Amino acid sequence: MATKSSATATAPAHRAAELREQLTLASHEYYVLDQPTLSDAAYDKLFRELQEIEREHPALRTPDSPTLRVGSEPQSALPKHTHLVPMLSLDNAFDEAEVAAWQERVRRLAGDAVDVDGFSCELKIDGAAVSLTYRDGVLVTGATRGSGTVGENVTPNLRTMHDVPLRLKTETPPALVEIRGEAYLPFSRFAKMNEERIAAGEPVFANPRNAAAGALRQLDPSITAQRPLRFFGYSAVHPDGFGALPFDSQDALLAALSQWGVPVAPHRVVCHTLEQVNAWATRVEQEYRAQIDFAIDGAVVKVNLLSLQQELGEVSGRVPRWAIARKFAPDVAETTLLRIGVNVGRTGSLNPYAELDAVEIGGTTVRMATLHNFDLITLKDLRVGDRVLVQRAGEVIPQVIGPVPEKRSTTDPPVPFVAPTECPSCGTPVRRDDDEVALYCPNVACPGRRLESLVHFTSVDAMDIRGLSYARIEQLVQADLVHDAADFYTLTTGQILPLERMAGKSAEKLIAAIDASRAQPLSRLLNALGIRHVGAVAAQLLARRFGSIEALQAASLDDIMAVRGIGDVIAASVREFLDDAAGQALVRKLSAARVQTTEPDVSGGAGPLHGLTVVITGTLPTLSRTDATALVERAGARVTSSVSKNTSFLVAGEEAGSKLDKAKQLGVEVIDEAELLRRAGKA
Ligand code: NAD
Repeated sequence: MATKSSATATAPAHRAAELREQLTLASHEYYVLDQPTLSDAAYDKLFRELQEIEREHPALRTPDSPTLRVGSEPQSALPKHTHLVPMLSLDNAFDEAEVAAWQERVRRLAGDAVDVDGFSCELKIDGAAVSLTYRDGVLVTGATRGSGTVGENVTPNLRTMHDVPLRLKTETPPALVEIRGEAYLPFSRFAKMNEERIAAGEPVFANPRNAAAGALRQLDPSITAQRPLRFFGYSAVHPDGFGALPFDSQDALLAALSQWGVPVAPHRVVCHTLEQVNAWATRVEQEYRAQIDFAIDGAVVKVNLLSLQQELGEVSGRVPRWAIARKFAPDVAETTLLRIGVNVGRTGSLNPYAELDAVEIGGTTVRMATLHNFDLITLKDLRVGDRVLVQRAGEVIPQVIGPVPEKRSTTDPPVPFVAPTECPSCGTPVRRDDDEVALYCPNVACPGRRLESLVHFTSVDAMDIRGLSYARIEQLVQADLVHDAADFYTLTTGQILPLERMAGKSAEKLIAAIDASRAQPLSRLLNALGIRHVGAVAAQLLARRFGSIEALQAASLDDIMAVRGIGDVIAASVREFLDDAAGQALVRKLSAARVQTTEPDVSGGAGPLHGLTVVITGTLPTLSRTDATALVERAGARVTSSVSKNTSFLVAGEEAGSKLDKAKQLGVEVIDEAELLRRAGKA
């Protein structure tokens, strides 16, 4: 019979074994398969629990305990790489008290000297850790972190990343240096990549971190090259210690990386007191986090002076003593999926969204999340009534990661979701094009489509009618004053004055704004009409080629397809709109309302860019895509949507992707917005 004391010892032993098993499995899914089934917060909780048990019962700490390991042994077919200096993980602090306790520990060990040079505070980028070895300034090896000692050699893959310098930008590079940093995927790219994967029938990635790690560990570098990975550096090491490198603080190290052409994450500061550290971390969590286009899962606080870092050393070969990760409230939460709703977009696309039992995520109450499209719902097997994991990342609309399968009742499981066969707004049978994931309502007069298309018609890149908000347009439709876009032009002050929240002055202003929009060129009108696949760029190409809506109406499908930059899908969609009775009636009504249906001759034959062909890509610092296109065209050039050897130059902004790659491949000149303004005679 067991004595009382041995019974209490077996309980922790049993629990520790259970936790080790759970954590080892989760690590394998996370690091090796890049497909976690646990949220990070859930993993961290279990990890902490095991740490506690091991602290109280040191005899229970087995040599293979996850608490003693960094990452996971590399298991892919990629060649192995032994790091010159081990790559460690970071210890976590989940609140301010834990940061304070860490600082106390560091002070006790290294004395008050730590306060003199302070603490380097940096964003904790949630990507995949990599090490880049440079010999005499030239990149020779790039590897994943792996087990911390041995990683995978992914040099060809890292070479495809534009952010990773192949040669450091310095005349005097160290003979040898390992630069450490994080490969990550910006949210915007991540969302696009998942859409493309759905279109290709491939499984989607749960989050940008797993997508980045997966991209990095491809056997075929050309696949990595297609995934828009970016890089931030945060450390540089040498096997002989920091003395072999030309800096003595973390702060100076980051400045050097930046000078060498290695991107360094924004919002870093040096703090001297705990209060400053806490104030900065709060700002990161509450302010910066929503502004940046990449995932962070915390902030890292490091002893700034490298000599003190060396003195402080590391704990069990797993984490450095001189740094702590202040983890943020998880941006993932679990809740119940109450309903799957469907919106009808302006082009008729049916967009599913999740209605959720209200849940707090990172300080915000979330009630709604995007579901992207119906294929994704099937792929994830999301069912109404399921417990689901919801993620909120930056300014991206919250997303449902997936159901929590073990929480689904086995005796009475919710029924699988079935995509609608009829438009939820007008009842018309829905359609799906062969090559597309979206379902759509083909009824041009569908009320759901109509409201969205009216909103689009008045938007900044279309007819740009100020004062017509979403709510105001809804009001006009409900008051039976507006049925289609042409009805805006027959509105009178007398008609709109009785509307709620409409004073005399604003009524006059609104009518004046509507009147002014009559003079918008055909290119804007074509965009405003909301023809499927026709955005601002295609609208401009068509307007410039045909000059008037009449000429476009008279053009054959082949004529439209012959316009450079217009493919067969856009051309067919334009023809379909123009051949449709409702489309024709709308154009007639707009003409009758004296809305301009021609494109003024913009080139004038002799602008500073006369005769050139220009492609614009990425987000420009100040100009919208429409404004940049208009600027180029006013200067006499043509804007096309794809890069070829006939492209005169490419204007590239932030997040430029495949077009930039193609331009580089073809040797097409690449310029930025400032240079464009200069060439167009605007700067
Ligand atoms: P970590 O991600 O918590 O922290 C260490 C890493 O942070 C470093 O290796 C480095 O790559 C990175 N980092 C980012 N910015 C940095 C900066 N400015 N300076 C220094 N380092 C920076 O640790 P980890 O060892 O990679 O993983 C452990 C974490 O991974 C756990 O806390 C858990 O959240 C998650 N995890 C989750 C699962 C799961 O099933 N969901 C499984 C295993 C691990």
